[in-house]
Amino acid sequence: MLDPAQTVAERLKIVQSRITEAASQSGRSASDIQLLAVSKTKPLVDILQAYHAGQIDFGENYLQEALQKQEELAQLHDEAQAARDICWHFIGPIQSNKTRAIAENFSWVHSVDRLKIAQRLSQQRDEQLPELNICLQVNLDNEESKSGFSPQELQQQVIEISKLPKLRVRGLMAIPKPRQEYSEQLQSLQRLQQLQDELNKAGLNLDTLSMGMSQDLAAAVAAGSTMLRVGSDIFGPRN
Ligand SMILES: *Cc1c(COP(=O)(O)O)cnc(C)c1O
Repeated sequence: MLDPAQTVAERLKIVQSRITEAASQSGRSASDIQLLAVSKTKPLVDILQAYHAGQIDFGENYLQEALQKQEELAQLHDEAQAARDICWHFIGPIQSNKTRAIAENFSWVHSVDRLKIAQRLSQQRDEQLPELNICLQVNLDNEESKSGFSPQELQQQVIEISKLPKLRVRGLMAIPKPRQEYSEQLQSLQRLQQLQDELNKAGLNLDTLSMGMSQDLAAAVAAGSTMLRVGSDIFGPRN
């Protein structure tokens, strides 16, 4: 499906047009859907190619790898503008001894999966920095192998986390089980949208639904995603 001869900029353009297409099919405005380019395992040059093609938000899964790229970027004098513009999102599993570096070096964290992690991120966020934007990861399919809040415990936990001073709870995130069928993808993604609606009815003010990857992008748009996390369809297959 991916043409190896295509550049990152070309693939990015194709992904953007898929988003526009999916949005128009579900009567949504593409401008309500943000694209997060997931650059895990990919070098900084690829990130810069995407940046120079207009991409601002980048998602990383592995802390050390992300910090290395950030440092590398900070040292490129010709890319000072990119270093200022790029918005870094942490989307990977979080170990509690890594929260300080995450709180200090990212603008968003999508993978907050327990109260203790949220408390640490809030405590460790620098006073000088704006609130850290977070999404709570939901284990939609109750998979043993996946982290995240269970749908049942979500409401009580979101309320607790919303009280933490240096965090801004923006919404929910999920990585559903991979499914081939559009209708099955749609069904599980709609569940996240439903959970978010329930929380907003209960008085929360969540504006972000972080869902949809290369394989379920269209279904995610139809189910109300406001932030798609796309890796391989932009940067090519991972090693
Ligand atoms: C890798 C990853 C993505 C991107 O997946 P693709 O299938 O490459 O688009 C999105 N979200 C998370 C949490 C990831 O780890």
